Amino acid sequence: MVESREREVALAAVRAAAQLCHRFYQSPGCQSLEKADASPVTAADFGSQALICQALGSAFPKDAIVAEEDATLLQRPEFAGTFRQVIQAVGQFLPGATGGEILDWIGRGRGQLPPRYWTLDPIDGTKGFLRGGQYAIALALLEGGEVQLGLLACPALPFPGTPPSRGTLFTAVRGEGAMALPLPGGEGKPIRVNPSGEASQLQRIESVESAHSDRGAQERLDRLLGCQRPPRQMDSQAKYGAVAWGEADLYLRVPLPQFARRGENVWDHAAGSLVVQEAGGRVTDLAGHPLDFSAGPQLSRNRGIVASNGAVHEQVLAAIAAAL
Ligand code: AMP
Ligand code: MG
Repeated sequence: MVESREREVALAAVRAAAQLCHRFYQSPGCQSLEKADASPVTAADFGSQALICQALGSAFPKDAIVAEEDATLLQRPEFAGTFRQVIQAVGQFLPGATGGEILDWIGRGRGQLPPRYWTLDPIDGTKGFLRGGQYAIALALLEGGEVQLGLLACPALPFPGTPPSRGTLFTAVRGEGAMALPLPGGEGKPIRVNPSGEASQLQRIESVESAHSDRGAQERLDRLLGCQRPPRQMDSQAKYGAVAWGEADLYLRVPLPQFARRGENVWDHAAGSLVVQEAGGRVTDLAGHPLDFSAGPQLSRNRGIVASNGAVHEQVLAAIAAAL
C-alpha cells in the first residue's frame, strides 16, 4: 500500500534530481570517471543520488535504499575534482551541505534488502546522458518482492504538446494505473499500451549500446515473429515509458552470452516494469517468469527481460522458447 506522503516525497526528490542532472546534460564540464566495471559515472550521478537519498532518509529514516553508486569512490584522490563538483551542485539544492553529509547521503543507498526497500538509479543510461541521448532518474518502492510505486524522470524525453526541453515523468502505483506528466509539473494524463496483437506490425525497442543486449538473437526473434518494422533504439528505462504510452510494443533484453552471469540490477527495472504493467502491459523474463525483486540487488532468479503491450507477449515467449 503506497501512502500519499511516499508519493509526494518521491516525486519532489526525483524532480529536484532531474533538475540537477539536466544542468550537467551535454555540458563539457561534467566530470566523468570510469568505475571498476568500465562503466562511466559522473558528478550528476552522485549529486542525484545524494539529493534523493537525503530526501528519503529524512522522511522515512527506517527505510532501506538500494542505489547504484558507491560513495567510497568519491574519497579516492582521482575523484577529488568530481567530488568538488558534486558538493557545488548539491549545494544549489541544499545550501550549506558539507562533503561529509553528502557522502553519508550517498552511502544510505547501500542498504541490505529487507522486505520493504527503495531502489534508485540516480542516472540510468549514463552513457546516453553523456552522448546527448535518453536517460532516466529511476526510483521505486518495493514491498514483499513487488514494486508498489515507480517513478521514471526522463529529462530529455519531450512530453507531447510542451516545449521539448522540459522532459517527461512517468509514474505508476500498483493497482492504480500509470500516468505521464510534464517533468517540471502541470497536467498529466493516464497512459495505456498499444492494444494491437499483430506481430508483423509490432514496434520493438532495444538499447542503443550494442553490448547491453544480444542484437543477433533479438533479430532472429523478429524474423520468427514476422516483424516487419526495424527496431528502434533508446537508452535507459525510457524504453519502458515508450512501451507504456504505446510508442513501442515490445522491449527485449536478451543477455549477451559473455554477460549471461552478470544479472540485471533491480534499479534498472523496478520502476519501469511497474509503469508498463500499470499501463496494461506485461513484464517477464525470457522464460515468462515474473521478475523476482526479492532475490537481492540483482534479478538473479531471472534471465533477460520481455516487456510488452501484453497482446503480443505469448507470441514473443513462444518464439523465444523456439529460437533461443
Ligand atoms: P540501457 O540504456 O537500456 O542499455 O541500460 C543501461 C543499463 O545497462 C545500465 O544501467 C547498466 O546497469 C546496464 N548494463 C551495463 N552493461 C550491461 C551489459 N553488458 N548487459 C546488460 N546490461 C548492461
Ligand atoms: Mg542503470
